[in-house]
Amino acid sequence: MPEAAPPEAGTLLTDQHGRRISYLRLSVTDRCNFRCVYCMAEDMQFMPRAELLSTDEMFALAASFVQLGVRKIRLTGGEPLVHPDIVALVGRLAALPGLHELAMTTNGARLAALAGPLKDSGLNRLNISLDSLQAARFKTLTRTGELADVLTGIRAAKEAGFQRIKLNSVILRGRNDDEVVDLVRFARQHELDISFIEEMPLGVIDEHDRAATFMPSADILARINATYPLTASIESTGGPARYHRMADSATRVGVISPHSANFCGQCNRVRVTASGQLMLCLGHENAIDLRAVLRAHPGEPARLMQTIQQAMAHKPERHQFKLDAPPQVIRFMNATGG
Ligand code: SAM
Ligand code: SF4
Repeated sequence: MPEAAPPEAGTLLTDQHGRRISYLRLSVTDRCNFRCVYCMAEDMQFMPRAELLSTDEMFALAASFVQLGVRKIRLTGGEPLVHPDIVALVGRLAALPGLHELAMTTNGARLAALAGPLKDSGLNRLNISLDSLQAARFKTLTRTGELADVLTGIRAAKEAGFQRIKLNSVILRGRNDDEVVDLVRFARQHELDISFIEEMPLGVIDEHDRAATFMPSADILARINATYPLTASIESTGGPARYHRMADSATRVGVISPHSANFCGQCNRVRVTASGQLMLCLGHENAIDLRAVLRAHPGEPARLMQTIQQAMAHKPERHQFKLDAPPQVIRFMNATGG
């Protein structure tokens, strides 16, 4: 029997504030080969493996979201490329009828080996995180990462044919804010887009004081503008980034400003953690346990879809991050997916 045509984007997932949910960020693992200072504690406790979704469970979950009108899925983590079945999972997801875009956010360290297979399996887009172009500083910020691996990974992704690769840079005052212009220059040289992200207070870390290292997007833009004049652009890639253009380059410069510019009104997304918890907002703890539904009713997508639809009523209107208060959200970013 032919499958029913997928519904129009987001029509079956509308929250009580009228926002249509058409974008799922799926964390495929909480594990990572880096320990970035703003994301993780040095000695992280990861979830027991039995608590993590299997590849089949992740696929079933993603298929249900697509049935409900989700059109874009971004795979994230932890580090998605440390998942042993990531290429096969990408292949299965890319074949889902109705899915328009399958993207991934990665630290890039394993792209040298995996960029080609991921492209061949149907991955459409890559965001690669890069906070420093100085090898020693890169090591300090990631604790375990090697800059050379990521630079090789970026080259491999371009050679594999990925278009409009975007770099993500988290900027901390006093740690890497002096590299903002260098990072833009690198993006221009390599024909990449780049987004600068304000640090979010996810998880309790003691490596630095987040209020002291906070770097507002406006300061980042001012520094870039002094070297590369920027023009604000109205374009959007469906996410929270606000873009700027330069007259002499195709590179787009984005800023993601959870503190200085609230972006919740346009929120079109939900997240699922590696353990199958549906997070309706990055800035709130409330979660719906989709793993429990998957495991209690295997092979019954209708149950899962009903739970997901009912959950939309609980999507908060906005996040409330505060840098000067103890973190309201104790989860680490790797558990939720960026
Ligand atoms: N491991 C992959 C990576 O680093 O790209 C994917 C997961 S990571 C959690 C996704 C994004 O979240 C990265 O760009 C990372 O820099 C960012 N991130 C992590 N912790 C953050 C925090 N506390 N505030 C803002 N961004 C954060
Ligand atoms: Fe790993 Fe990404 Fe978190 Fe860095 S930001 S520790 S690469 S999950």
